[in-house]
Amino acid sequence: MRPGRFEDWLTVDSKGLYCRPGDFHIDPYGGASRAVITHGHSDHARPGHEAALATSETLAIMDARLGEAGPRRKQTAAYGEPLKIGDVTVTLFPAGHVLGSAQVLIEYKGARAVISGDYKRSEDPTCAPFALVPCDLFVTEATFALPVFQHADARAEVAKLVKSVSQFPERAHVVGAYGLGKTQRVIALLREAGYERPIYIHGALQACCDLYESFGVPLGPLASATGAAREDLTGAIVLAPPSAIADRWSRRLPDPLTAFASGWMRVRARARQQGVELPLVISDHADWRELTDTIAETGAEEIWVTHGREDALLHHIQTTGRRGRALALIGREDEDQ
Ligand SMILES: [Zn+2]
Ligand SMILES: [Zn+2]
Repeated sequence: MRPGRFEDWLTVDSKGLYCRPGDFHIDPYGGASRAVITHGHSDHARPGHEAALATSETLAIMDARLGEAGPRRKQTAAYGEPLKIGDVTVTLFPAGHVLGSAQVLIEYKGARAVISGDYKRSEDPTCAPFALVPCDLFVTEATFALPVFQHADARAEVAKLVKSVSQFPERAHVVGAYGLGKTQRVIALLREAGYERPIYIHGALQACCDLYESFGVPLGPLASATGAAREDLTGAIVLAPPSAIADRWSRRLPDPLTAFASGWMRVRARARQQGVELPLVISDHADWRELTDTIAETGAEEIWVTHGREDALLHHIQTTGRRGRALALIGREDEDQ
């Protein structure tokens, strides 16, 4: 028997998405008494919670990034391990987004709601692959929810980078990449492609790389870009946060060639505008095809959209006979920007 409408027990309040019969929020902001956290990106794993449930990887990421402002009490959940919370059962499943990222299955009186968090379906050597979880309500992200967004094959994009390095061996290749997830994925793909030289990283990326390695994701030889001699950086690959690629930091590198690994690099005007010579279309979010396929494959009749470009996706949901709803959660950013 259905427990009535999902709106009766999954609501949106000032802290975000709230599960009433379990008395917890999912990825809340403003400090919640009980939070279930999908993954470690800062717009999902926020400071000030009293208690948090997440994968051990996500809790470790929160520790590293939030320190004292991290959750006061922590509960680890393994993927696929059902946990009773109040009147509901919560189970985390891999979301394929970044290390430790999880979808949250909530079962209540026979109804199944899955909150995706951010997710992708394409392969990523640095995290567990997305698990398809059949459900009645699927709460999805919509970062790249326009038909124009078709992410490229990440391996082919990394091959472009390796090729450019061999074509321009005197130029430092500065690759803008978000610190948690994208950086480690690019590094792992470079290693898969046979690139064995040290990869230089901006200091801001060190902690997340260490964390990935501590969870068994090998990244090969990494070196600090700041401490490196200029001649070592000639023809080297240097990873840096997106904010650093355009500023003074990268200008001191030998004849820098700017690359940027992001789903937004599909938009060439954007790449040009940001002065990116080598756009790499590598995204940790589902593209249009992945979003629409996943919605269909979950079997859900009802789809809620948390954040992103929801208009086109809601239209698609309605034309396929499903019920759609925009949650328009505030405070979500796009870490790919
Ligand atoms: Zn994310
Ligand atoms: Zn997000």
